[in-house]
Amino acid sequence: MEKSTQVIIAGAGAGGLILALSLHQIGVDCRVYEAVPDIRPIGAGINLLPHAVRELDELDLVPALDKVGIRTKDASYFTHHGQLVYTEPAGEAAGYPWPQFSIHRGDMQFTFLDAVRERLGPDSVQTGHRLVKVDQDEDGVTAHFVDPEGNALPPVRGGMLVGADGIKSALRKQFYPDEGEPIYSGLTIWRGVTPFKPFLSGANTIRIGWMSVGKLMVYPIRNNIDAEGNQLMNWVATLERPKPESYDWNRHASLDDFFEPYKNWHFDWLDVPALLQKTDPILIFPMVDRDPLKTWTFGRATLLGDAAHPMYPRGSNGAGQAILDARFLAGCIKRMGVGAEALQAYDKERVAATSKVVLMNRKNPPDAILREVHERSGGRKFDHINDVISVDELKSISSNYKQVAGFDIEQLKARPAFV
Ligand SMILES: Cc1cc2nc3c(=O)[nH]c(=O)nc-3n(C[C@H](O)[C@H](O)[C@H](O)COP(=O)(O)OP(=O)(O)OC[C@H]3O[C@@H](n4cnc5c(N)ncnc54)[C@H](O)[C@@H]3O)c2cc1C
Repeated sequence: MEKSTQVIIAGAGAGGLILALSLHQIGVDCRVYEAVPDIRPIGAGINLLPHAVRELDELDLVPALDKVGIRTKDASYFTHHGQLVYTEPAGEAAGYPWPQFSIHRGDMQFTFLDAVRERLGPDSVQTGHRLVKVDQDEDGVTAHFVDPEGNALPPVRGGMLVGADGIKSALRKQFYPDEGEPIYSGLTIWRGVTPFKPFLSGANTIRIGWMSVGKLMVYPIRNNIDAEGNQLMNWVATLERPKPESYDWNRHASLDDFFEPYKNWHFDWLDVPALLQKTDPILIFPMVDRDPLKTWTFGRATLLGDAAHPMYPRGSNGAGQAILDARFLAGCIKRMGVGAEALQAYDKERVAATSKVVLMNRKNPPDAILREVHERSGGRKFDHINDVISVDELKSISSNYKQVAGFDIEQLKARPAFV
């Protein structure tokens, strides 16, 4: 028997769930169809920057995020010798009216999922539904799903389909059958979370080193997780490597694969080898993205989030841009109704905006600060950072990224609400 809803959403990641909450906010009926039979808190940490948190605030999700995440206070950059390059305040400490959150991906997803189930009803997210294909006619779309064994499920009829189905998007494959695999950057990422004692401000996002000598990002994502006052610490190590064999978000790796460059990083403020050695499991993922598309929209079906614009996770913008897509699309639907016109308006704005972020993440993400210092110093210790690069230049790398990604403080404060 065919079911129906106004907006069919494929994928219960950040993008799909925030779209569902936003459509509920404007009184549009929708349902989320998720491939996995049982949603589990997979992954490691994610930073939600103020432009994304503004949208979450407009959905009244900040109190729930405060229960599980950490309000980030500052962002700092160090060389692989442990020398401070640059530090700047983050979130409210930087003067934004909205905080920045450092959070476990699972805690973020379950915060959104709980809110969807509470506000839209227990049946609003249907798990075990993998989108395989969409058909369209003049009046709407028919989405086809299979269960985890590959058996066809009853098709779902709707006024519109949004493919928020991640980096392996089935809808994108239907639109662009010849596109092939995501593009490998030459960099591989290892990541993990482990209990560890707080360092520096206790709410700092730090980036250390450079790809050729070992690059590491570390930030806490949960406070007071035990009687010793430890935090749940998230880290991401990045090294130049041949392409790993698969890109499954839950693939495990061993410490020996990547430990060597980090083995002497015993800094006063953080013992990196101890942090890495304590972590189990360690996850591995190739750093991949795709070339920006000219359009995500075909009639009454479109893409959103990683399905539309997978990007290198170097600027804390993957989840954030998915959230911005969802909110902008909801705003278009509020003004134009469910149909092709709203999708065209969404496509026109968000394809251009996110293409710039994808390209910026390739060339000049925030950690370009570390590339500049590494190249100009030849990877050697310096007496003073000003001998290598001026503070103004460091500030301008950081502020250029903020402008392109949409979280320049003045622009963000002045921007009208999406919904
Ligand atoms: C399991 C997992 C772990 C991750 N871990 C990290 C991490 O540690 N660090 C990081 O930076 N990023 C991680 N990411 C990516 C990060 O979540 C996204 O970059 C970002 O949040 C954008 O979200 P999204 O909603 O567009 O996509 P995603 O978060 O990828 O969500 C897509 C959802 O769609 C579902 N799906 C896939 N195919 C179909 C289909 N055909 N039909 C229906 N549903 C489908 C997936 O199961 C998933 O729930 C992870 C993603 C996943 C799926």
